[in-house]
Amino acid sequence: MSLDSPAALPPNTYDAEPIPPAARAEIERLLQSGDLFRYTTEASPVALLEQEFAALMGTRYALAVSSCSAALFLSLKALDLPRGARVLIPAFTFAAVPSSIVHADCVPVLCEVGTNYRIDLDDFAAKLGDVQAVMISHMRGHTSDMDAIMALCDARGLPVIEDAAHSLGTTWHGRIIGSIGKIGCFSFQSYKLLNAGEGGILISDDADLVARAVIMSGAYEHNWKKHGGHAPQDQADLEAAFARWQNKLPLYNLRLNNLSAAIIRPQLGEMARRVADGRRNHDHVAARLNQSPWIEVPEKLAPEERAPDSIQFNMVGMSDAEMLAFAAAAAARGVKVQVFGLSADNARAFWNWQFLGDIPALPQTRAMLMRACDTRLPARLQQPELDAIADALVAAAQDVMGNLRAYGT
Ligand SMILES: *Cc1c(COP(=O)(O)O)cnc(C)c1O
Repeated sequence: MSLDSPAALPPNTYDAEPIPPAARAEIERLLQSGDLFRYTTEASPVALLEQEFAALMGTRYALAVSSCSAALFLSLKALDLPRGARVLIPAFTFAAVPSSIVHADCVPVLCEVGTNYRIDLDDFAAKLGDVQAVMISHMRGHTSDMDAIMALCDARGLPVIEDAAHSLGTTWHGRIIGSIGKIGCFSFQSYKLLNAGEGGILISDDADLVARAVIMSGAYEHNWKKHGGHAPQDQADLEAAFARWQNKLPLYNLRLNNLSAAIIRPQLGEMARRVADGRRNHDHVAARLNQSPWIEVPEKLAPEERAPDSIQFNMVGMSDAEMLAFAAAAAARGVKVQVFGLSADNARAFWNWQFLGDIPALPQTRAMLMRACDTRLPARLQQPELDAIADALVAAAQDVMGNLRAYGT
């Protein structure tokens, strides 16, 4: 095999899938007409995307916006939380999540996360008495125990927002993640399942919340009339809510544009395949990694069916120095590994969220982040590439820890 043969190269885990050709014709049409603003026409690509997405999720309403962060912010505003309201989130999430809470003039409260990347229910329950809302980040698609979370929140009448930015296609007891809480938010940023570069969408069955979010997203004057296409009762409920909120809410202008919607719509039909392929890829690599005495891939919870596009795993029995040596050895073997807690300024390490002021200690989440590794695993990868990634990771651990310790302890 020559050195420049493609098989000799490490797998490319960064490129996204090509955008389906159907998007190109629609983009050309939009460029010809200059019709890029969602409210120019009634059945705009953005409005159609909302209708198609709500149907796919089995919810009454969807609102497409400029990012998942915008959707999270609007969800908090739609709930009409008082200034300074406390919002409970898992401490393992992306910095944009507490940021959306700060943006909404609320205060993030962080709860501990276990070595399986899921919410620690004891800490969650302990902190629930002192919050006004809950935002569940299904970080990297890992679903916390939604049965327990909903029971605890329902008992206190606390609204639950699901941050399902990276969980599109995941189910819990067969129910789509993002449709369990009062509002669910998804991302169309390029590293997520549906790629428009940027974009987001929120879903809900609550007409009043959706009407508020629609207006605040920038449906000024009577542009809310262009949110149609619902079943008659859903439409009537929405219009009654719009009438209640006319002129009463600020406009934050977080709309999605038609070009983004045109890029996403043809990808909706690719979702099921991407989910199935991503799950197959993840489970294949997980089984290979679990054969290493130095690597542990946490199990999912029983009611969850995942839609992964990356894999997270914990290194066992390593010091910080050995963790860094492992990441370097993996990189030398062509696979990039991010150790959440050991890469400088990582946006998923809560101690870097200095904009929050005092950062709580959260020793359990910190310990997890110091040993948890992250490797991209896009749905388009084929088995030889998956095997190459798994082999490189197992060998990198062996490079650092050696065979002797593996079998001698
Ligand atoms: C990507 C991501 C976000 C932010 O999504 P944007 O569309 O980039 O704003 C929020 N939460 C999680 C868990 C994410 O993975």
